[in-house]
Amino acid sequence: MAGRPYILAETNWKTVRDTRYDVAILPWGATEAHNYHLPYGTDVIETEAVAAESARRAWDGGARVVALPCIPFGVNTGQLDIPFCMNMNPSTQAAVLGDVAAVLDTHGVGKLVILNGHGGNDFRMMIRELQPKVRVFLCTINWYACLDPKPFFNEPGDHAGELETSLVQHLTPNLVLPLTEAGSGHARRFTVAGLRDGWAWAPRRWTKVSDDTGTGNPAASTPEKGARYFDAVTERIGGFLAELAAADPEHLYA
Ligand SMILES: [Zn+2]
Repeated sequence: MAGRPYILAETNWKTVRDTRYDVAILPWGATEAHNYHLPYGTDVIETEAVAAESARRAWDGGARVVALPCIPFGVNTGQLDIPFCMNMNPSTQAAVLGDVAAVLDTHGVGKLVILNGHGGNDFRMMIRELQPKVRVFLCTINWYACLDPKPFFNEPGDHAGELETSLVQHLTPNLVLPLTEAGSGHARRFTVAGLRDGWAWAPRRWTKVSDDTGTGNPAASTPEKGARYFDAVTERIGGFLAELAAADPEHLYA
């Protein structure tokens, strides 16, 4: 039995040779502590699943899209004192992204979507620098910000909170500890008003912010909430992929 044709790691040269792909999706996660109850691979699990299901929806609608393997390491410079938070610096990410884009450019793939699942990653400046050097159209989505999560959750939370916990309960329930094992996810706020209110910005020192590495209360999480949210997110991103696949990068403005 053949793998899914829109997942590169599962497909084969026979399929790839005969398919003209319009869009490649590069899922990009992180490997880091997620409170006491979620796995280190949470961002990878979530982002791979969002990429796969969004690609399936677009593929089933006729768009030729393919999800590349997920890059598992994110920017974790604020978590260096937490064991096995596997930091990859932004400059390294830019080099990796440049190589991926160069490969796609050589093979004539017209568009690349970087599907980001980790708050410490930010591909916008990298895209600004890289875009003039390749013919591939580059864009990025933070899947966790593609729609308002408030209708789906009491308190979505930021890291290992209700949103992420519900999603992993839905996607890989065998990897989630009982919520009685989870910390409260209480996050201390900046004492300086501008930083606290968000109009000034500095990266957070995670061990000063949280005692359990979580920022967001997971108590009200359920797999049903995760399923509903996953459905809405992948519907939206699948629609985007289909629209992008059909779009002409030379005529994106009206
Ligand atoms: Zn996460």
